[in-house]
Amino acid sequence: MKDQKKDIRALSKEQLRDFFVAQGDKAFRGNQVYEWLWSKSVHNFSDMTNISLTTRELLNENFVINHIKVDQMQQSKDGTIKNAVKLHDGLIVESVLIPTETRTTACVSSQVGCSLDCKFCATARLKRMRNLNPDEIYDQVVAIDQESRLYHNRPLSNIVFMGMGEPLMNYNNVLKAIEKITSDEGLGMSPKRITVSTSGVPKMIKKLADDEVRFKLAVSLHSAIEEVRTSIMPFNENFPLEDLRESLEYWYAKTKSRVTYEYVVWKGVNDQLKDAQALVRFCKYVPSKVNLIEYNPIDDGEYQQASNQALDMYIDQLEKNRVPVTVRRSRGKDIDAACGQLANKS
Ligand code: SAH
Repeated sequence: MKDQKKDIRALSKEQLRDFFVAQGDKAFRGNQVYEWLWSKSVHNFSDMTNISLTTRELLNENFVINHIKVDQMQQSKDGTIKNAVKLHDGLIVESVLIPTETRTTACVSSQVGCSLDCKFCATARLKRMRNLNPDEIYDQVVAIDQESRLYHNRPLSNIVFMGMGEPLMNYNNVLKAIEKITSDEGLGMSPKRITVSTSGVPKMIKKLADDEVRFKLAVSLHSAIEEVRTSIMPFNENFPLEDLRESLEYWYAKTKSRVTYEYVVWKGVNDQLKDAQALVRFCKYVPSKVNLIEYNPIDDGEYQQASNQALDMYIDQLEKNRVPVTVRRSRGKDIDAACGQLANKS
């Protein structure tokens, strides 16, 4: 019975106002309830304390609030927190809080499992089960904001869509969630503090540009040589580098926003001079910077982090060509919370 009730957060503010008018109440009631649902993020109608008991009962008869539940929270030695988050249908996704001296970043999931098949990523071993709804993405951010305040005495400052899933394969819901996160009726965060990371879906990158989004874009590149990229990210066969390049040129022309390339260097895969030179050439197409990410082993040792020498060679090539580069150390490895390790081991 309960399952047949409608998820109240699937309604727009306008629709909520209409609901109350149809019930003979004031449209304004819709605004009040909307505020409880989003900016106050309550889990139960009974928490809506300025709403009459009769109205709360009415809501309860007609709707559910499918709030996520943090099923399990793990804390790393370095302060990183990983949440296993239970959805209303029992499926689980993971999100991560990453504290540094100056900021707290939430790393959130956009799908249960993933549509893609990157060979080096633990999430890819789970098949894609479903897309997350906007409220399920929003709730992950709210949960991490609360943990940030509780454990680090400050609100969340940044969000990266680098958890489970490919955000651009769940385009509409991700954009709706970001709209709520950035709106004053939601969390009021600046879009400049949000980064959407994609493995590179050219058509959708162009759509982001057409939709004039204000958040930042990161692309998981990992190789700028076609055959190499296809061997580690097989979907590259359908979305070749040339299309990716064209979509990024389109993105930059419209948004004037610099692209970040995420890049792991693996032993024997992409650790040669020609690999670094190909990356440098790719970086010249649009203003960009490179994040060299440490590899987090996921199992059988098929992939291994390249030597420090290879990393230094990359840094040297990039710097010589004036491409900004940073090396990102893994966080939360001891609790399997680092990049590419999210796979619901719990
Ligand atoms: N699908 C999106 C969002 C996931 S982001 C994307 O690919 O961008 C997760 C980031 O971690 C990506 O840059 C991904 O390439 C990287 N990653 C995946 N597995 C990893 C691993 N085992 N070690 C380090 N980084 C990994």
